[in-house]
Amino acid sequence: MYVDNLNEYCRRIFKSSMNNFMCEIGENDLRKSAIIFSPHPDDETLGCGGTIIKKKRFDADVSIVILTDGSQSHSAFISRDELKFMRARNALAATHVLGVDENDVFFLEFENRKLYENFNSAVQKVKEILMDLQPEEIFIPYYKEPLFWSTDHLATTKVVLSALALSGLNTVINEYPIGFWGHWPWTSTLLQDVWKKSLYAWTSYLFSGLYMLKDFRFFVQINDVLEIKRAALFKYKTQMTRLFSNLNWPILEDVSNGEFLKCFFQDREVFRRYSFVKPAFIN
Ligand SMILES: [Zn+2]
Repeated sequence: MYVDNLNEYCRRIFKSSMNNFMCEIGENDLRKSAIIFSPHPDDETLGCGGTIIKKKRFDADVSIVILTDGSQSHSAFISRDELKFMRARNALAATHVLGVDENDVFFLEFENRKLYENFNSAVQKVKEILMDLQPEEIFIPYYKEPLFWSTDHLATTKVVLSALALSGLNTVINEYPIGFWGHWPWTSTLLQDVWKKSLYAWTSYLFSGLYMLKDFRFFVQINDVLEIKRAALFKYKTQMTRLFSNLNWPILEDVSNGEFLKCFFQDREVFRRYSFVKPAFIN
């Protein structure tokens, strides 16, 4: 009980410190055309769902590109093909609730957890989409997404930045956190898992709060659309409900006893926002 209160107290301190340094992304920017790049079917709704709803309300052109098929999240319970099919269907239902036409949702269908192995082919596909749609801004996972969450998140960021460098487009980038919320003080029980993994994971865990303060300087206020975002996320039946009455079927609510999921229903979606500069990993 005492530890729960301490975690909650630290969360509030971090939140109010972050709030002091952040700028709101206003109507002018919400009207800009955008592509949301999502590693798995659900990350676009978790990380940017409220922002997508608001952009669509301002008539912005919004496309969603989902890079992998999400076929591994429950492969112990269901065949990969079935899961792939279900997650794609869930994605169309969720993005429909967000206000995005199904013709604006692209599935690249790279195998879940193997995006790095398909790096060059993914870069080519993303480049074609970028050249075709010429978005004013893009949304990608945060460049410090932890590897203990999923390697596909960082791979997505690197694929899109590489494609952007090849395309020569001048665009604004918004990086959104997903697995990064799996750090203290936002979530408390992933600590044991991290301890078993690597020194890198452990140090990133300790310094995560400072990175949040340093990097997330922009936000979209989403309190007025939170319930729509929640309704969209619940369309992801494979991630939000225990299917086939199987009590072992893992859902997002299980992660750190619900603390993780709560992070996506705060009154702001936060972003690391900047104009594109060629990152050091690209020659
Ligand atoms: Zn993901």
